[in-house]
Amino acid sequence: MTDVLAVADHRRGELRDVSYEIITAGRQLADETGGDLHLAVISGTVDDFADKLNREGVDAIHTVSHGEEFNHDVYTQAVTQLYDELAPQYVLTPNSVNGLDYAPAIANQLDLPVVTDTIDLDNDGETLVATREMYGGKVETTNQLEGDAVVTIRGAEWPAAEGTGDAAIEAFDADIDEDAIGSTVNGFEEVGGGDVDISEADLLVSVGRGIEEEENLDLIRDLADALGATLSSSRPIVDNGWLPKNRQVGQSGKVVTPDVYIAIGISGAVQHVAGMKGSDTIVAINTDPNAPIMDIADYAIVDDLFDVVPELIEEFDE
Ligand code: FAD
Repeated sequence: MTDVLAVADHRRGELRDVSYEIITAGRQLADETGGDLHLAVISGTVDDFADKLNREGVDAIHTVSHGEEFNHDVYTQAVTQLYDELAPQYVLTPNSVNGLDYAPAIANQLDLPVVTDTIDLDNDGETLVATREMYGGKVETTNQLEGDAVVTIRGAEWPAAEGTGDAAIEAFDADIDEDAIGSTVNGFEEVGGGDVDISEADLLVSVGRGIEEEENLDLIRDLADALGATLSSSRPIVDNGWLPKNRQVGQSGKVVTPDVYIAIGISGAVQHVAGMKGSDTIVAINTDPNAPIMDIADYAIVDDLFDVVPELIEEFDE
């Protein structure tokens, strides 16, 4: 009863980055409890996913081949059956749209506590201390859990597992009750903004309220084009209806981890920073040298964006 069962996440045929991060979190926890790390890969191209996820630290990979896309009922049934089979102490799921969909259901069915959106986990051999943020990241709380538990982990809080592993890959013969599947995926319709997924972008040009008017967004689009970057924004831009919701970075938007994040006319409110602090290099362009974004920026240009951005476009166009 010291093992960890982590569940991989995928969407539209691609593994999500958090699938590699959950291996790191799960390995750390399994080392602390003295158990093994099992990884579940459910639906999609499971054999291909299992090969990709066979990284250092994974002891066993269990594949459940059932449909292409995430399905609440399939995941709930498969994970609860894996729990019965493997008897792990902890079930780890990503704190993603999918993970948050089935984690409470499996906790309910297994009569286990669930703690969501954790950013740190520490087991001293008896108690699991799970750290979460509250009040938009202003406060950290610790939750102490005795015994088995279901835990969701926030993306970008653990590094991705690397190195090739030698885990045994086994097909798990889950007994999926088709009559209990209450929903089916008939297709996808993207919300405005196309199928852009800012959480997967390497280079983000992000715009905030400093842009003042919707028409001025073209300037930022030109910079993104010149750099080959993806456009994202702070919440006011989305609230104004200037960009679609899938471009919003932050607590109530998406968590992003690009190599470079360029924040233009963004103050760096805690709710925004919660979504981009995992970026490798942060560049801020802001007239206010005391804006909170300056505290986390690696490079800052303290100047008017309407002067700086055209110069950058000219420079990069060359
Ligand atoms: P502002 O805070 O107004 O900052 C504008 C910045 O532009 C300022 O720093 C200013 O100095 C600079 N500026 C102005 N003119 C220029 C110029 N000409 N050149 C250069 N710089 C200039 N926010 C998010 O972003 N994402 C979220 O997911 C999110 N979730 C939230 C959830 C909750 C529950 C709540 C309460 C709030 C949330 N917010 C979120 C809102 C957040 O609190 C801030 O209000 C928001 O991030 C501010 O956006 P901003 O930085 O674009 O605007």
